[in-house]
Amino acid sequence: MPPQRQTILVVEDEAAIAETITYALQTEGFVPLWQATGGAALAAAAAQPVALVVLDVGLPDMSGFDVCRELQRRAAVPVIFLTARSGEVDRIVGLELGADDYLAKPFSPRELTARVRAVLRRSRGGAAAPAAGAAWDHDAARCRITYRGRPLELTRNEYRLLAALLAAPGRVFSRDQLMAAAWEDPGSALDRTVDAHVKTLRAKLRAAGAEPDPIATHRGLGYSLREEA
Ligand code: CA
Repeated sequence: MPPQRQTILVVEDEAAIAETITYALQTEGFVPLWQATGGAALAAAAAQPVALVVLDVGLPDMSGFDVCRELQRRAAVPVIFLTARSGEVDRIVGLELGADDYLAKPFSPRELTARVRAVLRRSRGGAAAPAAGAAWDHDAARCRITYRGRPLELTRNEYRLLAALLAAPGRVFSRDQLMAAAWEDPGSALDRTVDAHVKTLRAKLRAAGAEPDPIATHRGLGYSLREEA
């Protein structure tokens, strides 16, 4: 039996971008459904089941954030945001919107379809069983993290930083968010401090045999824990 083709709702007011996305999705065997406004997207999502929503933040009638909120209010559906401004990324990462991923414009169609597949895989796996769980063991009571059975010798800030990343594999944390999670007095820490701690953390992970690097750098955005790590 051929695998069921999944409908992907594409909400994007720029026709040229929407066309690129729908073409890429079609090529990959998905059924894209394009809507140019938030209102039309909500109506479409109510009328038929969709497997995932690719959602532009800047829409003519309402913001993508509001569309996402309304979608999540009805039923949990994976959402990948498309953003044109870096300021929007902070909001996506900062707000508990239920966004599963985001892409900053311009992006390649190949990157988009790769993210769509990854998010669908993840949502099928269920939130209770993160893929990262296999390699990591986090004993919160003892403030101890073990990588493939090897306990990591971490400073307090390194531990808190890694614990924050481990709590949400795949999710991109801004430096501000990591600082808030790992430092008692975030106001006194600079961005570079986060970078410096990630650097020492990476060195310790490497020493524990973590290869490739389990921490991904998102240029200009922050860091995430790789889900396959
Ligand atoms: Ca737009």
